[in-house]
Amino acid sequence: MAITKSLSTPNTRLLADRVERIKPSPTIATAARAEELQAAGKKIINLSIGEPDFDTPAPIKEFAIKAVHDGHTKYTAVDGMKSLKQAVINKYIRENRLKYELNQILISCGAKHSLYNLFSALLNPGDEVIIPAPYWVSYPDMVMLADGIPVFVTAGIDQHFKITPAQLEAAITNKTRLVIFNSPSNPSGMAYTENELKALGEVLLRHPAIWIATDDIYEHHLWNHRPFTNIVNACPELYDRTLVVNSVSKTYAMTGWRIGYTAGPAKIIGAMKKAQSQNTSSPCSISQYAALGALEGEQACVAEMTKAYKERHDFIVGELQKIPGIKCLPSDGTFYTFPSIEGLLRPDKGITNDVEFAEYLLNEAEIAVIAGSAFGMPNHIRICYTTAMEKLVDAAERIHKVVAKLGS
Ligand code: PMP
Ligand code: GLU
Repeated sequence: MAITKSLSTPNTRLLADRVERIKPSPTIATAARAEELQAAGKKIINLSIGEPDFDTPAPIKEFAIKAVHDGHTKYTAVDGMKSLKQAVINKYIRENRLKYELNQILISCGAKHSLYNLFSALLNPGDEVIIPAPYWVSYPDMVMLADGIPVFVTAGIDQHFKITPAQLEAAITNKTRLVIFNSPSNPSGMAYTENELKALGEVLLRHPAIWIATDDIYEHHLWNHRPFTNIVNACPELYDRTLVVNSVSKTYAMTGWRIGYTAGPAKIIGAMKKAQSQNTSSPCSISQYAALGALEGEQACVAEMTKAYKERHDFIVGELQKIPGIKCLPSDGTFYTFPSIEGLLRPDKGITNDVEFAEYLLNEAEIAVIAGSAFGMPNHIRICYTTAMEKLVDAAERIHKVVAKLGS
């Protein structure tokens, strides 16, 4: 009888509101679709997901293999192995001129997990998080999963996708809890200069209750505005309020290993560690050994990969700039370009927005890209050039061809 009753009661609240509020990651969804089409025999060129095409360098793999043979196959400390935390401290001194203690470092399962822990540890329902747009797809949804409210500050192509101090000031309310910076940026490829960061930092100095996150995962893939500078370098007074997030994913072509890390005030790091102790026991022990090998080992591989990204950047940006209707700024770094395709919208041909344009590229040119609206900026597309040059040459030819078909 009890079973019959429960079956006949309509369950109108099947899922938690927090999960109903969010969408699946669009970058991952598009890449999965491209793979399905490839498997079905289509000659898709996948310029969608932001992940290095290079294999993880062999010496890094050796560290992991040795860890397995040495039996390092158990949980580690929740916040990561002490040796890896020390390697992260050394990295911050060596590369970023920033000094941290062991209790200021947390190793997590990728920068995505680092950010997720940060939002879980910091946000109360209704807290506002300022996110400059265009933004990496996951920031708003991760904020919403933690019951926060994303507040977007939009910077279009005319301002090189970089927000101004006046825009930041105008977005701050008494509910603002956190501001996120990502420079060089996914998707725009733009990096703030030291002076620009200083000016933004001065705004934040006037609002001492606001925390700051800087997502530095593309710091090495940078060709303009070198050396790499983040908001704490530009404005050292913000050190006590800033969480510096990074990962080995992009720097060392290690996306699958899932190791990210955060440095910052011990109190927040401790709270993130508490969250991590309940959402995963520790990051993968074997991956931590690989990350240790990456951070402490020979760094030449990083510059080699960046050189390849820059060559591909120059080629693809040059090709896109030849196309009437496309506005494409050169990137300062990353492996993305984020052209405006507004001039290619053709309502008479059913292409009224970036999503339909991306669909057109997929159907007609068999090229997968991500529509700009996924990053909070419609009428743009993100092209990721983590693809061998021959394929990029092919992709450029296909784009020229299908765009020509649209007519003017
Ligand atoms: N931040 C940005 C800006 C990203 O593009 C990504 C995606 N790779 C991440 C964080 C997450 O990286 P990870 O693979 O280390 O989780
Ligand atoms: N960050 C990469 C991208 O933007 C990887 C996919 C993801 O985690 O969203 O494509």
